[in-house]
Amino acid sequence: MKSLVAQRILHLALDTPLDRYFDYRWNGDGPPPQAGQLALVPFGQRKVVGLIVGVDDTTDVPPDKLRDVIAVRSQLPPLSAAWLALCGFAADYYQRPLGEVAVPGLPKNLRAEKPTALDRALKKIAKAERASDPAPQAMPALNDAQRAAAAAIAGAQGFAPTLLYGVTGSGKTEVYLHAAAQILAQDQTDAAQVLILIPEINLTPQLESNVRARFPGLTVATLHSGLAEGERLRNWLAAHLGQARIILGTRLAILASLPQLKLIIVDEEHDPSYKQQEGLRYSARDLAVWRARQLGIPVVLGSATPSLETWHHAQSGRYRKLELRERAVKDAVLPRVRLIDMERDKPAEGLTATLVAAVKLRLERGEQSLLFLNRRGYAPVLACDACGWIGNCPRCTAFMVLHKPEHRLRCHHCSLEQRIPKSCPTCGNIDLQPLGRGTQRVEEGLQRLFPQARLLRIDADSTRLKGSAQAAFEAVHRGEVDILIGTQMVAKGHDFRHLTLVGVLNPDTALFSHDYRASERLFAQLMQVAGRAGRAAQKEGGNAGEVLIQTRYPQHPLYGAVMAHDYDRFAGGLLEERAQAGLPPFLYQALLRAEARELQSALDFLQQAAGCGVYPGITIHDPIPMTMTRMANVERAQLLVESISRPALQAFLKAWMAQLREVRTRVKWSLEVDPVDI
Ligand code: ADP
Ligand code: ZN
Ligand code: ZN
Repeated sequence: MKSLVAQRILHLALDTPLDRYFDYRWNGDGPPPQAGQLALVPFGQRKVVGLIVGVDDTTDVPPDKLRDVIAVRSQLPPLSAAWLALCGFAADYYQRPLGEVAVPGLPKNLRAEKPTALDRALKKIAKAERASDPAPQAMPALNDAQRAAAAAIAGAQGFAPTLLYGVTGSGKTEVYLHAAAQILAQDQTDAAQVLILIPEINLTPQLESNVRARFPGLTVATLHSGLAEGERLRNWLAAHLGQARIILGTRLAILASLPQLKLIIVDEEHDPSYKQQEGLRYSARDLAVWRARQLGIPVVLGSATPSLETWHHAQSGRYRKLELRERAVKDAVLPRVRLIDMERDKPAEGLTATLVAAVKLRLERGEQSLLFLNRRGYAPVLACDACGWIGNCPRCTAFMVLHKPEHRLRCHHCSLEQRIPKSCPTCGNIDLQPLGRGTQRVEEGLQRLFPQARLLRIDADSTRLKGSAQAAFEAVHRGEVDILIGTQMVAKGHDFRHLTLVGVLNPDTALFSHDYRASERLFAQLMQVAGRAGRAAQKEGGNAGEVLIQTRYPQHPLYGAVMAHDYDRFAGGLLEERAQAGLPPFLYQALLRAEARELQSALDFLQQAAGCGVYPGITIHDPIPMTMTRMANVERAQLLVESISRPALQAFLKAWMAQLREVRTRVKWSLEVDPVDI
């Protein structure tokens, strides 16, 4: 007997800029598909996988235009309503179509035309043994402050946003792990999942092995952009199927399907890498808080230098604040921070005599030094003294950076490379001068000063090869390095036990940046990098850490706060300034960007957008060229929109986007809500 064939209309979200759903006819046998399932459909000449958001009996699409679903991925359990709501919120808030938010976030292999990889991964997961049970690594006894914090997190009822404010080395990781263990143990269903977000997984491999060792018998899955597609799919599925109980990931993990999520932790919550800077420009930290509220679960934001947004919420009582005031390792104290006045102690090779002497002392004592300079390459620019020629990138509003070991000039924005000119292209002078210095030049200077010392430079150039960053950090841990030279890559999270000196080479530029967030960032960076020093116990032979900052502005209050390790006062001052100047977090912003071959076209488009009507409570500024106007031969301009009311801004943006989507233009434009780089 032929089974009754039911016809259904499926509404699909597809990865397109069109802000609507697409209807398809489903004629299959078996139970009808449901929302949250994936389906392969024809789209123009292509076949694409979309997300079913609704199942219906009718459609407005005329019958001759209506196309059939090719296949439903029924082997995959549907994504939950809560997950769809999360994507829906992100789409609404960041003003993007749902399909552009939900679909590209899924592993590529899940969106493939053939489900081969999916079927293979599902089989592999079904067969996977539970993680083997090695002897559980004992959790160290917490100190009182840590214990109180872990208990407060795990004991919270419902949505409980918490700032874990702890100085560097205060043992925040232990608090996370204990709180996670308690929540997993309390859970009756024995299925609870914990999501731990970290800024950058490759730089902190210790954390992953630490987590695995602490939870033997539980599956730990990682999610980050460095995974191969096969592994990415398997890990995503393990999370989606509830098999992975602890998920450790970078910002993209906030959009993972986690049906039994009971706790979210955002480590180093202030870190800029939680903000996606292209496509859907979301803040993983903000989405984490939203997701926790939606699910009624605790969320922990941990930092020694919280973002001002989070700090503001903690001060106003919207977030609970838990504090760890001391370093966890017994007798390890916060490093002493001193300023070196570069007007008095003039640097040679970028290094003052005081700093050189301090490095020398560490070499004699067999301890490690770290020299921090947030600029890679040899010199930021090559110039001609004779005629004033300067090596600009022909495609960007930027200098070409001199990379001496590679014998190249490189643009750090568009990746253009040139050979180093033998003589000045305008006057023929053969004596071209590198101006300023980057990590390569500092390394060269140190080599001359300390020919016997073992130097290691860690920056994006020296760690291009996969696994090389990890190998470099391991060498530091094994004590095979005397002097470490690095960019912000070395500032984060590392627990270097032999390191007792941190020298900061050129932090002043950030003091006078046009970006009002620069000082917040500089402060966080200095506290972070300073936090690498003196982490071992002094009784066990560890020496107190010392931090030397070379500056031309020793009177600047920011440095005063760094010396005093006084984030509270610094943040209080900044918040007051922001309140007076009318800046975030006291004001909400969105940025409309436009790109075109001609700057004028971009500006004209923005001018037109600015004239789209008058809305109460919304300030629309004048269009301006971006600070870096040209990038890779594209001219860029921006338009800032502000309001003191987030709902008012959101309502305006929604109406505005609907209007702008109708504008026919060749200008490429995009909107960023809560922009961080203006
Ligand atoms: P944070 O993330 O706050 O900077 P970490 O979590 O990296 O600090 O901890 C710093 C160091 O202190 C680590 O080596 C950790 O093993 C150690 N530690 C943490 N808690 C304790 C404790 N209760 N007793 C002894 N050592 C601890
Ligand atoms: Zn010249
Ligand atoms: Zn360029």
